[in-house]
Amino acid sequence: MSRFFLTTAIDYVNSRPHLGTAYEKICADVIARYKRLCGFDTRFLMGNDEHSQNVFKKAVEEGLDPLAYCDQMEREFRKTWAYLDVSFDDFIRTTEPRHKAGVSEIAKRLWDAGDIYEGVYEGWYCVSCEEFKQEKDLVNGNCPLHPTLKPEWIREKNYFFRLSKYQQPLRDHFAAHPEFMQPENRRNEILRLIEGGLQDISVSRAGQSWGIPLPFDPSSVVYVWFDALINYASAVGLGVNPEMFEQWWPADLHVIGKDITRFHAVIWPAMLMSAKVAVPRQIFGHGFMTVDGQRMSKTLGNLIDPIVAADRLGPQGQDPLRLYLVKEVSFGGDGDFTWERYDERYNVDLANNLGNLVSRVSAMAARYRNSRLTPVHEGSDQLARIGEQVVVDYRRSMDAFALHEGAAAAFRLIDATNEFIAATAPWTLAKDPAQADRLTRVLFDAAEAIRLAAVLLEPIMPTSCREILRRVGTTAEGLTFDRDGRWRNDGERVLAQDGPLWPRLGAKETTTVTDNESTAAGAPGTAAPA
Ligand SMILES: [Zn+2]
Repeated sequence: MSRFFLTTAIDYVNSRPHLGTAYEKICADVIARYKRLCGFDTRFLMGNDEHSQNVFKKAVEEGLDPLAYCDQMEREFRKTWAYLDVSFDDFIRTTEPRHKAGVSEIAKRLWDAGDIYEGVYEGWYCVSCEEFKQEKDLVNGNCPLHPTLKPEWIREKNYFFRLSKYQQPLRDHFAAHPEFMQPENRRNEILRLIEGGLQDISVSRAGQSWGIPLPFDPSSVVYVWFDALINYASAVGLGVNPEMFEQWWPADLHVIGKDITRFHAVIWPAMLMSAKVAVPRQIFGHGFMTVDGQRMSKTLGNLIDPIVAADRLGPQGQDPLRLYLVKEVSFGGDGDFTWERYDERYNVDLANNLGNLVSRVSAMAARYRNSRLTPVHEGSDQLARIGEQVVVDYRRSMDAFALHEGAAAAFRLIDATNEFIAATAPWTLAKDPAQADRLTRVLFDAAEAIRLAAVLLEPIMPTSCREILRRVGTTAEGLTFDRDGRWRNDGERVLAQDGPLWPRLGAKETTTVTDNESTAAGAPGTAAPA
């Protein structure tokens, strides 16, 4: 069986997960679930980045031992991911022994390769970014990402990695593997950066206790970014479990935010080249999620808790949230979240469209056929042909990580089924005994279209699709794309009629909920800084 190893960025634990963090994990989860559906032996890695000075400071502020603080945050993160149905197979923390072993292994290899040397770093450092900044990057003397925060001027003994040595190997790699960095606009950004020349980078911090000591100089710790990148390899056994490493490395896909492409597409492959380890096959840099057109930030006070967003739409509210994030944002581009649009899409896509379709078809099957539908082979294949075309479009999109187009393809089938019902008018066919077979065929095809759409949407809305499959007389048990991801004109279906999957949000209700939750989530206008 082919395997597929994918990862997300690991998260700093100095604050709780918000909608932007959740966006990345949900999209990666959709890819992981899609790959499993396609029969890949899939390994989906997530984790927490704990060796940050911010984490250390935050723990001290709260009067906690840093590790105890990280334990507490791990529970918060795991709770959020479980709530959103994020199906990771492994969760790594950078304070774990397996990660320390991986970091020591890489550091040793780079040292042995002669790619690390001692020097003095003097310059700006933004503690919030945990990044060294060049004068030219600052805006009015401050970090562009942290406009209220003055970077620190530091001068300390550092070890440097000879990144400059890897300019040509990186160029060659990008030329030989055009798919390495996606989407295309980010690939071009990175190529320009490499063409502009690479400077050696500092990979250690002196005089700090919170971090992994360098194996060749334990008085320094590994710089947090250098440390963090290695998690992808240490999680699959680098330096500890060669068999496991052999099985899973290189990673097939790193899903990351567009702000950290330089670390992943330049520094990380150079580190691996120096360590004589294969580089990952692909890096995908997604865009940012804004709220009402504004960047989400703690400073602006407009962070949205994904659990609050999911809860707003009732039990299984994680599925409408997942659908919104995947379908409304073109994966790779930036996306915007507004409570109004979120409610509107819920009503349009789920309450009025998919949910209503499932209710109507199961109600008509109950009324006209006692809920039992058998395949009939005569008559028009119109809907079946649309279904087959949609599957082709869906797979092409999903294989290219155009997740929004995959979702749109599934909804094309749902729209076509609604139109098919309007055009064939089963309620009229039911009045004419001569049309009995035709009516059976229409209902069977409508139920089959719903089944197929539910299979396509399963990676995006796993819980709801399980329920839809039950209602159209099949099961999500052991779902495989090869068998279930195509039009099937076989087998009797016993449909189940049940309450609405997604009750419509009323206009009045919507307004009330919006007011409450805008306040709770600190939406702009209620908590914006003066
Ligand atoms: Zn910063």
